[in-house]
Amino acid sequence: MKALVYRGPGKKQLEEVPTPTLRDATDAIVRMTKTTICGTDLHILKGDLPTVAAGRILGHEGIGIIEEVGTGVSRFHKGDRVLISCITACGKCEYCRRGMPSHCERGGWILGNTIDGTQAGFVRIPFADTSLYPIPKDADEDAMVMLSDILPTGYECGTLNGAVKPGDTVAIIGAGPVGLAALLTTQFFAPANLIVIDLDDNRLEVAKTFGATAVINSTDGKAVEKVMALTSGKGVDVAIEAVGVAATFGLCQEIIGAGGHIANIGVHGASVTLHLEKLWSQNITITTRLVDAVTTPMLLKTVMSGRLKPKQLITHHFSLADVLKAYDTFGNAGKEHALKVILTNE
Ligand SMILES: [Zn+2]
Ligand SMILES: [Zn+2]
Repeated sequence: MKALVYRGPGKKQLEEVPTPTLRDATDAIVRMTKTTICGTDLHILKGDLPTVAAGRILGHEGIGIIEEVGTGVSRFHKGDRVLISCITACGKCEYCRRGMPSHCERGGWILGNTIDGTQAGFVRIPFADTSLYPIPKDADEDAMVMLSDILPTGYECGTLNGAVKPGDTVAIIGAGPVGLAALLTTQFFAPANLIVIDLDDNRLEVAKTFGATAVINSTDGKAVEKVMALTSGKGVDVAIEAVGVAATFGLCQEIIGAGGHIANIGVHGASVTLHLEKLWSQNITITTRLVDAVTTPMLLKTVMSGRLKPKQLITHHFSLADVLKAYDTFGNAGKEHALKVILTNE
């Protein structure tokens, strides 16, 4: 089969590799039908994630059809259409039982990280019964791909950790796919004001169509003043960081109001400065989280009902054979006006 293989920082190749086979009784082999590229894959290629070894097949999102299951898999059978969660859950360890499978002792975020991932013709999914979801009959397949990672990530790490409440003023820093997923899901809780901050005017225009009540291009370095002007000098109730660099986490600290929540989503590859000399008395809460993907069944229902329309996040389609071209497009998101790209395995 063909697969996108990581060959060390800055290097990736489309290679012919052996098709995966069952290793444990709880495994399933899934024939990929659609996958996508995540900002995290770009972080891996930058060398930000040392857990990813050269030779690893990248990708932790997608949908497919069950090709084969181990003797210990009871919920899925050959031919079933399945949604692959970016988080593998054994369902039995202490962390899984605590609802925190991101830290599963035998799973967590392993796909396209410590085991081979989904940007390939086939993928081996460990603990298939607790790491896959059946795809409903009438589901839009492209929309389903958004449920592997970005919707649960935006919702759990941004909206839920940010404790968004009715009437809140929320700022989302970073209007990439995950920031926009946070923007969509914060609206479950009826915030009064949704301010989106980014460097890219096109993404800010998209954010407006997704429900942003105000957008700020921070290129001029005046984002703090502008947020303060919009909030009568009080700052925001919730600041969601969806970039993963020191400057954007710093911006969250400058615009957060008393009693507010800073919810970090970004994957950080370097340290940030924490301004406790200003924040110690401000009653704020700072949260971090690796997505647990425990809200996927709920999000799936909201997508099926039409309440959540994640298909808006998809801007480009490629064949899996053109995965390198897809990386070029996604890697030049500003110029290409790219959000999520869908790769179809034809
Ligand atoms: Zn991802
Ligand atoms: Zn576990």
